[in-house]
Amino acid sequence: MDAPSKIRVNQVGYDLRFPQIVTVLTDSPLILRDENGKELRRFVPPPLQWDEASGEQVAAVSLSLSAPGTYTLEADGERRKIAAEAAPWRNVSNALIKGLYYQRCGCALAEAHAGSYAHPACHTAPAVDWKDRNVQRKVIGGWHDAGDYGKYVGPGAVTAAHLLYAWKLFPDGCSDNLNIPESGNSVPDILNEARWELEWILQMQRADGAFHHKLTKARFAPFIMPQEDGETEYLMPVSSCATGAACACLSLASRVYRAFDAPFANRMLLSALRAWDWLQSHPEFVSFVNPEGVRTGQYGDQSDKDERFWAACELFAATGQARFREAVEALYAAGQRLTAFGWASVGGLGALCCLFDLKEKADSILYDALKKDYLAQSEEALALSQQSGYGTALSPDRYIWGSILPIMGNAMSMILNALITVREDMRDAALLQWHYALGMNALDTCFVTGFGEKRVLHPHHRPSGADGIDAPVPGLISGGPNKRFPYPTTKEKLGEDTPPAKYFLDETPSADTNEIAIYWNSPAIFVGAYFNMHA
Ligand SMILES: [Zn+2]
Repeated sequence: MDAPSKIRVNQVGYDLRFPQIVTVLTDSPLILRDENGKELRRFVPPPLQWDEASGEQVAAVSLSLSAPGTYTLEADGERRKIAAEAAPWRNVSNALIKGLYYQRCGCALAEAHAGSYAHPACHTAPAVDWKDRNVQRKVIGGWHDAGDYGKYVGPGAVTAAHLLYAWKLFPDGCSDNLNIPESGNSVPDILNEARWELEWILQMQRADGAFHHKLTKARFAPFIMPQEDGETEYLMPVSSCATGAACACLSLASRVYRAFDAPFANRMLLSALRAWDWLQSHPEFVSFVNPEGVRTGQYGDQSDKDERFWAACELFAATGQARFREAVEALYAAGQRLTAFGWASVGGLGALCCLFDLKEKADSILYDALKKDYLAQSEEALALSQQSGYGTALSPDRYIWGSILPIMGNAMSMILNALITVREDMRDAALLQWHYALGMNALDTCFVTGFGEKRVLHPHHRPSGADGIDAPVPGLISGGPNKRFPYPTTKEKLGEDTPPAKYFLDETPSADTNEIAIYWNSPAIFVGAYFNMHA
């Protein structure tokens, strides 16, 4: 990549209906020009502010553009293009959903839909039960989880839920023309894509109602195409977290799909109810730890109280039964992080259900008290954004593996606040997280493959590494900088002095900073859908 510019922008573009914020690393005068080079404005940026996460002095500049066009911002002799359009983010939002299509397992990706990224079907052999090798069954479908070919119930359920809520809250925020096999079937494409995962989750249920934690091999495959990966896939033991997340997601999906396919909705609700019964008869935390000899993703957790909370919320919303309201109230009273939207901590999805789908049904605890609590907790994201020079809602010591997840999660948190309170400061701070993802960051990098002037080219993603095509599979979001748990090789290259927001290598082996994951795409899909619909 070229040297970073002193002008950091959302490289995909700006929407004229929101403040157009760019970040500059200079206190020199700025010149704004139109597409003919005509000077429109010359001004001095606000005073520089120390940004601890990047170790830089930066200033946020609001451009106040009034018409669509391609502008140029000039500073210290350097020029940066700024695109202003009526609907600038539709393509990247659509690509993020299509990115999940490219992760589909168990089917061929046809050239008509996947272009040069087409490949034959993968992972179609029967799965073997890890505990009882005599038990084999066909479990086909789902999305490859991340850079690897594993499939994990909890992360998959959370990913699907982000898509379902994106559609529920912002139905016009996504296009229904994604060129996937189901396009044109009268069901919105975002739901068509989510169904690919839901059908797989349904197959992951054991006869007693519990869900297997994951379907993976004992070890990660080398960098080969998925159809070349012939190692046995195992149904790993069950866990209460996977069972709770699957229960919640399937219950939510039963509400969403009822209007499109009632038998499918019923199948999901019955599965969710059986999962709930299992959870009730197993009140203890049934954790998952990789069995000896297994090295694939563990997705371990410390507690299942949040998965049980989310499941109870969704079952109450789906059935209206008092037993579920009582469970929600008890689990809520036990304490929940209401602004957590990731695979490990799902209390935010339960809150989302209560705030937007239970309004009429709920009594004062589940709407009024929870809302007050939610609004208070979501202030934290705004405070983090205000403390950052780039407006990034992440504290400098939280640049973890997949830092894009807490950043997008905080954007979701502020968006829900803005939907309730109509506060513009919440909306505008959420937008800064979207700008971060699309290039307005310390790395001057757009994290979505296929987009941006300075883009991610070498994600840790097996098909992108093995397909012989220079450009990576498009529409996948990189996890981004990670100074908390970097590989020794990353540490060797970047050293101790590199600031957290720059702890990133656009290199294929760097899973620690540059992997992709379905549950990083999905909160970005939610955030994009909100801004598309409100644009
Ligand atoms: Zn596969």
